[in-house]
Amino acid sequence: MKKLYFLSLCLLLLFAFPSSAVSAAEGSFATENPVTVRVGIYENAPKIFTDEDGNASGFWAEITEYIAQQEGWDIEWVHGSWEECLNMLANGEIDIMPDVAYTEARALLYDFSEVSVLTSWSRIYSGNGVDIGSILDLEGKTIAVLRGSVNVEGPEGIKALVAAFHINCSFVELNSYIEVFELVSDGGADAGVVSKDFGNNHQEAYDVRQTPVIFQPSQIYFAFTMDNPLNAYLIETIDTDIGELKDDKNSVYYRALEKWFGGAVEKNVIPDWIWWVAGGLLLSILLLGGGSFILRSQVNARTRELTEEVIKRKQAEEDLRQSYGKLEVLVKERTSELKEKSDALEEANAHLQEVNRHKSVFLANMSHELRTPLNSIIGYTRLMYDGLEGDINEEQKQDLLAVYNNGKNLLELINGLLDLSKIEAGKMVMAYEVFPVSNLVKEIIATIEPLAKEKELTLTHYVDPVIDNIYADRAKIRQVLLNILGNSVKFTLQGSVKLDITADEDNYIFSVSDTGIGIEKENLEVIFDSFVQVGPAQIAGYAGTGLGLAVCRQFIEMQGGRIWAESELGKGSKFIFTLPVNKKIILNR
Ligand code: ADP
Repeated sequence: MKKLYFLSLCLLLLFAFPSSAVSAAEGSFATENPVTVRVGIYENAPKIFTDEDGNASGFWAEITEYIAQQEGWDIEWVHGSWEECLNMLANGEIDIMPDVAYTEARALLYDFSEVSVLTSWSRIYSGNGVDIGSILDLEGKTIAVLRGSVNVEGPEGIKALVAAFHINCSFVELNSYIEVFELVSDGGADAGVVSKDFGNNHQEAYDVRQTPVIFQPSQIYFAFTMDNPLNAYLIETIDTDIGELKDDKNSVYYRALEKWFGGAVEKNVIPDWIWWVAGGLLLSILLLGGGSFILRSQVNARTRELTEEVIKRKQAEEDLRQSYGKLEVLVKERTSELKEKSDALEEANAHLQEVNRHKSVFLANMSHELRTPLNSIIGYTRLMYDGLEGDINEEQKQDLLAVYNNGKNLLELINGLLDLSKIEAGKMVMAYEVFPVSNLVKEIIATIEPLAKEKELTLTHYVDPVIDNIYADRAKIRQVLLNILGNSVKFTLQGSVKLDITADEDNYIFSVSDTGIGIEKENLEVIFDSFVQVGPAQIAGYAGTGLGLAVCRQFIEMQGGRIWAESELGKGSKFIFTLPVNKKIILNR
């Protein structure tokens, strides 16, 4: 899992900093000047030692040989004890000594590489039955140590340490850590001081025990003999190579650490929390990346939708605009068509009115011209019928009566046509006058009475005494009254005909009632149109023109009144008309 995180992190770093990865890969250990390097070797397994075949072995030997192989060096291993090796280094008999802790005192004797190879510290191991819980327990004890070691003579070595605590103990100085553990194991010493790497690897074999007393933590380097002209090259090369090996987790350096120290040796291991943080970071980056990808996709999708929507709306607007345009054109066309038609109609109408006016004028003239000869025909026929022109037989009398009646009828028709033509031609004018209504009634009754008597009908009349003089066109009112009274007599077979004239505040009310044949409800209005006859009146036997009531309505309405009929078929009819009361004429109330 850790490796997966690390791999991902490396990948990220690779993408972020590709140039640094490339330049690292291009590094080279090669040198153009192959050299023989003398390297000291002492017995401190597993760090460095001579194996059973007499070959250099251990962590330092492996690293040193790897670098030599990379750089093309020949290594000459020079064996000795620790102290002998350090002396050979000081005397220039060897070029390099591995596994040397840096101290200021040693820096006066040797050169050191800058990059440390290992971190180490020293520890006290006790013999069987010896109990050491702290540095104070060293009081009075015999302690085996490595001669010349920094953990013995160094500023933080065991001698300086016990002196600082005022502890009295004795030291036995030996040539190797193996001798130290052998002495402790044999009981020749109570305790021994070795590096923790050696101790961890050999404590079981020598039956010695770790104590909690740890001291002198130190960085371990390659040390070089002084004044060697190769030093600058050797130190720089070794520093570069060690640096690169430490940077590469899969390098020989880490494989050697694992091989020689296992889990017991501290490595430059990246702490767990770094893995977790890196993993967390990677996860966050992935989540953020994923989130931003999803968001971007959503935004893109929404943008696409909105764009499509906008395009659709624009298209719809364009369609609508075009429709409006077409509609406008259509409306304009229709309007101008209608205007043309309306103009044409107006023109036709004006033309028709003109024609109608000509017709009315023609009819009026014609009617007038016809009436004069017709009147004389009717007059002479009557003279002959009455026997004033001499005796006539019965047959002749009947013929003359027919001529007389038809003549009268024709005259009535001509009179009606004349009146309507005049009205249509706009030539009919009202001749208003003030006249006593009773006088008019008397005259009309006198005219109608013979006709009523002939049919044995009762003719009565009533004039409200409040009415005296009225202001109207007397001749027209007379014509109207004669027409509707004549109709009543004509369409009543038996019973009565009655004329009533009353008044209210505003109107005179004239009504003629009869007990005649009556009129169907749906015909009450049409009988006021020209040439309309309804019911039995259409059948022969009732002479008439169908013009009378049309003329009556015109005459009454021209004087500001109204005329209408009320009737029940078979029971009789009532014709009513009103005339406005002229305010100057005081009713007799
Ligand atoms: P005319 O009497 O010459 O036919 P009018 O215009 O005076 O023409 O009357 C129109 C029609 O109205 C008549 O033909 C008749 O059918 C009907 N009419 C008028 N007055 C009466 C009435 N008093 N009773 C029944 N029908 C009537």
